[in-house]
Amino acid sequence: MSDRYISHFPKPDGLPRELLEILAEECAEVVQRVTKALRFGLDESQPGQPFTNAARIGHEVGDVLATLERLQDINVLRRADVAHGVESKRRQLLIFLQNEPVTERV
Ligand SMILES: [Mg+2]
Repeated sequence: MSDRYISHFPKPDGLPRELLEILAEECAEVVQRVTKALRFGLDESQPGQPFTNAARIGHEVGDVLATLERLQDINVLRRADVAHGVESKRRQLLIFLQNEPVTERV
């Protein structure tokens, strides 16, 4: 008897798969922009680029949010699960942020 695990669930295809691929691409673009900002500064603009690294992070986060909307519209992702994640992260940030003064948040 083999220990291999074979999922019996269908893999996403069609529009759900395409949107998940785009979500992965956009998340990677957020990572790229954030690492550029960490290396060169939030206010730096790459040569030939009219937008600062901060603006470009915002643009890429917007791309992620737009893609999330479409995934929720077609019920690949549940809005309740996304809302749960948002609330959970807010609580974690209140507890674990190391650089925010304690007196600023109650
Ligand atoms: Mg993008």
